[in-house]
Amino acid sequence: MSEKTIPELFGSMVFNEEVMRQRLSSTCYRAWKKCVEEGTPLSLEHAHEMAAEMKNWAMDRGATHFTHWFQPMTGVTAEKHDSFISPDGGRVLMQFSGKELVKGEPDASSFPSGGLRATFEARGYTAWDPSSFAFIKDGSLCVPTIFCSYSGQALDKKTPLLRSMEELSRQAVRVLRLFGDTDVKKVVSQVGPEQEYFLIDRDVCRKREDLMLTGRTLFGAKPPKGQELEDHYFGTIKPRVAAFMRELDEELWKLGILAKTKHNEVAPAQHELAPIYNDANTACDHNQLTMEVMKKVAGRHNMVCLLHEKPFAGVNGSGKHDNWSLSTDTGLNLFKPGSTPSQNARFLLFLTAFIKGVDEYQDLLRCSVANPGNDHRLGAQEAPPAIISIFLGDELTAIVESIIHGTDYVDTSKKILSIGVDTLPSIPQDTTDRNRTSPLAFTGNKFEFRMLGSSQSISGPNIALNTIMAEQLSQFADELEGAEDFTAALHDLIRRTLTNHQRIIFNGNGYEGAWVEEAARRGLSNLTCTADALETYIQPKHIELFRKHGVFTEEELRARNEIHLMNYCEVVGIEARTMIDMVKRDIFPAVSAFSGEVAKNLGLKRSALPDLECSAEEKLLRRLSGLTGEMMRQLEALEEAVAAPKGKDAYEAAHYYKYTVFVVMDALRAAVDELETITSASYWPYPSYVDLLFSVQ
Ligand code: ADP
Ligand code: MG
Repeated sequence: MSEKTIPELFGSMVFNEEVMRQRLSSTCYRAWKKCVEEGTPLSLEHAHEMAAEMKNWAMDRGATHFTHWFQPMTGVTAEKHDSFISPDGGRVLMQFSGKELVKGEPDASSFPSGGLRATFEARGYTAWDPSSFAFIKDGSLCVPTIFCSYSGQALDKKTPLLRSMEELSRQAVRVLRLFGDTDVKKVVSQVGPEQEYFLIDRDVCRKREDLMLTGRTLFGAKPPKGQELEDHYFGTIKPRVAAFMRELDEELWKLGILAKTKHNEVAPAQHELAPIYNDANTACDHNQLTMEVMKKVAGRHNMVCLLHEKPFAGVNGSGKHDNWSLSTDTGLNLFKPGSTPSQNARFLLFLTAFIKGVDEYQDLLRCSVANPGNDHRLGAQEAPPAIISIFLGDELTAIVESIIHGTDYVDTSKKILSIGVDTLPSIPQDTTDRNRTSPLAFTGNKFEFRMLGSSQSISGPNIALNTIMAEQLSQFADELEGAEDFTAALHDLIRRTLTNHQRIIFNGNGYEGAWVEEAARRGLSNLTCTADALETYIQPKHIELFRKHGVFTEEELRARNEIHLMNYCEVVGIEARTMIDMVKRDIFPAVSAFSGEVAKNLGLKRSALPDLECSAEEKLLRRLSGLTGEMMRQLEALEEAVAAPKGKDAYEAAHYYKYTVFVVMDALRAAVDELETITSASYWPYPSYVDLLFSVQ
């Protein structure tokens, strides 16, 4: 830890509100504040002042360059650095103008656009997002921006997130007005993402072509010891990992990221970091930065940070838990059960909206977490199933049932709950006995969406949650605004809606096969893989949802769909080609050499003493040769599959990769993994799972 105290360190690399208040003229500061709070544009004059002060502040901290920092649809962040240098008659001046702050034109023709941007108008533009603070990273002033095409179509993950937050706020405020609330101006979705990751020794990792190229092991026999003993979970943190975590915290704090909890996860070498929650936009920026800083800091400790959803077969994969709630600018959490009848009515209305939204848009939520890495987790006995359902806990479920049936809600109180008239029994903010198998759990005052993949941007899932919620609130507001008797109408609406959407509530064990059957009976969808999930993405219902709320145009949604599908095909294609390369150049030669050695020894033993028992060598040689034959047959099949035509459109291509290419990859892996278990370790060309998982001591 540096000599600076944590409060001194925290946010020291962020041009935050406090810095603005100190450095900007009061008119400029107020103009910025108005811009963020009310959406009024900042004049060019104020943008100039803002830029100049940002530059001075950044130069005081050693920065020489600036960059617009944005989140293209690749899911990672992009930067293009320019120095502050500007020529001035043989000398240089350090400059950063308001124009440069507000708008940039990166040569961005190779970012995915899903056909939204023809190459002749390739230059998308970036525009400053004044609601996220600029910061310094690697000697550059980073200005968070949105990224759009010239005709204004979103080419990034931030633009639609901001749009969804605004729309949700608008609809939520409408509903709050019905409860007589005239103070609230804004409702903000709050997000706290818990990030899982693996740490592997870099020297060991570098010997694995699959890890280096694809982020996961494409081969690897199961280790004799995995996570069975559960001795890693919340276990003592190893010194090398502790040093990494210390430095990571420090780097994140400098960037104003509220890194809070850190602990070991279930699998060996797996860890988790949770920040304190923030508004969804900031949380998303921060999570992107966190993933980037994790990789960088790991490198300094000669380790590799793996963010892939499933680096190791047979060992728990990594996800992200997206804790999501709604809070007002007056400091109210709308998912917190209240203590007065009116607060409770409000809580129940928001809860009901959420339940209805999730039930109606299950497929959309499923699509928002679909990626090739996550296909290895969802439904695989370690992560939530691919079926969407909501865990409410016993107390809340009892209340919901009593509303539906008009019966006593708690045995002891013998009372029928009348919404808007009665208070709820207290609902404990349960922290211990939570159902970990549920994909979407109510945890006292927020929902925890647990299906996200560890490597993915949290933007998509939060866009989905925000927009779904906005839609339900707008429907509710439409109905209630015209009601003569508000309390009666509210009661009726809540009761009717809960009755119609009760099927989405499930408090049982989501890992059990019985749930799959039960969910099918309830008519819930079960989209087990990315290719199947994405088939539902651009259905008319989804296009209409996003269009109505101004989050995506139809064109933008179709473009995103195209990008996801192509990405899926590319990822599986790269994995297949990597496997082919590894087998041909490393695994086959190694197995062949080892078989030769066994054959040679067998011959030597036989010629030494013809009646010598050689059954072990014989058996081994036969097994080696049999499996080698099988491996090479699957290799040929895979080469053919990868070379074959992929279908007439992106959907067919994705299905081809899933149901043809991937199936052969599995068969090839099975043969190779078995060979690994019978080949001498000194011949095997790659570090084993034990070498990898226990590489950091
Ligand atoms: P657990 O692992 O038990 O789920 P953690 O403490 O690891 O709990 O993570 C909980 C996450 O939820 C943290 O990021 C926390 O800041 C966040 N969180 C807490 N309250 C809220 C809220 N009202 N809205 C959104 N996120 C929240
Ligand atoms: Mg959690």
